[in-house]
Amino acid sequence: KQAVQSCLFLIEQFKELNAFIEVFAEEAIERALFLDSQEVKGKLHGVVIGIKDNICYKDHKVSAASRILEGFTSLYSATAVERLLAEGAIIIGRQNCDEFGMGSTNENSAYGPTLHPDDHSRVPGGSSGGSAVAVKKGMCMVSLGSDTGGSVRLPADYCGIVGLKPGYGTVSRHGLIAYGSSFDQIGILANNVADVAIVLDVISGPDDFDSTALPAKPTNTQQSDKEEKFRIAYFPEWINHPSIDPEISVQIRKYIEKLEAMGQEVKPVSFDLTEYIVPTYYILTTAEASSNLSRYDGIRYGKSAGETEDLASFYRSNRAHGFGKEVKRRIMLGTFVLSSGYYDAYYTKAQQVRQQLYQQTRLIFNDFDFIIAPNAPTIAPLLGEKNKDPLAMYMGDIFTVFANLTGIPAISLPVFKHSSNLPFGLQVAAGGQNEVSLLRFTHQLM
Ligand code: GLN
Repeated sequence: KQAVQSCLFLIEQFKELNAFIEVFAEEAIERALFLDSQEVKGKLHGVVIGIKDNICYKDHKVSAASRILEGFTSLYSATAVERLLAEGAIIIGRQNCDEFGMGSTNENSAYGPTLHPDDHSRVPGGSSGGSAVAVKKGMCMVSLGSDTGGSVRLPADYCGIVGLKPGYGTVSRHGLIAYGSSFDQIGILANNVADVAIVLDVISGPDDFDSTALPAKPTNTQQSDKEEKFRIAYFPEWINHPSIDPEISVQIRKYIEKLEAMGQEVKPVSFDLTEYIVPTYYILTTAEASSNLSRYDGIRYGKSAGETEDLASFYRSNRAHGFGKEVKRRIMLGTFVLSSGYYDAYYTKAQQVRQQLYQQTRLIFNDFDFIIAPNAPTIAPLLGEKNKDPLAMYMGDIFTVFANLTGIPAISLPVFKHSSNLPFGLQVAAGGQNEVSLLRFTHQLM
């Protein structure tokens, strides 16, 4: 109960950051009292967890920060949420995010932007911005976010916390509102790697409700508990990328030297597909989004406009009023790349590039255990700075979307401080479903 009260106090104290869309205050206290009265205690007994507003929690509202889902209540809980509850967690509220997870700054929310926890003139990163800010400020102990193209790792990077995107299929997507189904993963934001590891162990594993969930939980492939030597790759094309803040580049280079001094083997690997990453990601995710979002017609879900003349104008009116600007842009882009005449030139081509990315990545992980990289080319931008230029915003996803295109796990670690005093992180990715060794290695780095 005290833990819940402390979180509620901080939620109130940092209200202007706009991290939560709704707080389940009374319910959370009641649950704490109930859990206290139980003899058997779960692995997450009394752990206070916030969930991004695109993850379903039975009998609670969920909106994906979109007007089109205003007033909609979940009929069931996401598998990940069910598993948290079964281990004694307390869900404290639903957290602000970019509408349907589309954005990198948390400015595309129907509920207004979330602010950076250390500098209110800046963005916290997106799309799971509320989830990162809540952890950073102690409004909850852990958050569940979602990562289709960096949305857990980027806000973790900007806010100075840990954010894990598990490998594709490690955590069931049942009850996660779909954006790009072949990319989406529920991820974990926390203060440290150990907390991430405990929560991942609880929420991962097969699920009859998601045929893309893998048949087994991540397991330990390592020999011993002792510190081990690893083979680590980095891409010089990324660290020297023209878009990167030179200070980020310098600090990562120094970090590489530090790893070498620790006895790790760190080697440059050329990655010549770099320039295709962002276009491939945006062609495929907008295509999937345009299909996934076709269900929001104002009849089956959420809010609908009043009387109209015919069915087509009813749909048009609901969608025109319900969706924000960025979501509309993506539906149009996705519909375009899937349209006959353009399908082969864009969609098929992008699928082919994705195959090449898979293959190159597999080859890299034949020789290496991990890839280290920046998460983003810059530190947290100012509010409004990126929002005017969607292409510039998309280009900022260059280092994160790689892991979603290839389905590998990747984590953001808060190990750097910029001269502006703002934090930024290091990204570490592992091959296949190697979350356990990724977490063990990164635990040593913090
Ligand atoms: N910036 C990415 C996008 O807008 C983030 C997506 C995500 O991970 N939800 O597509």
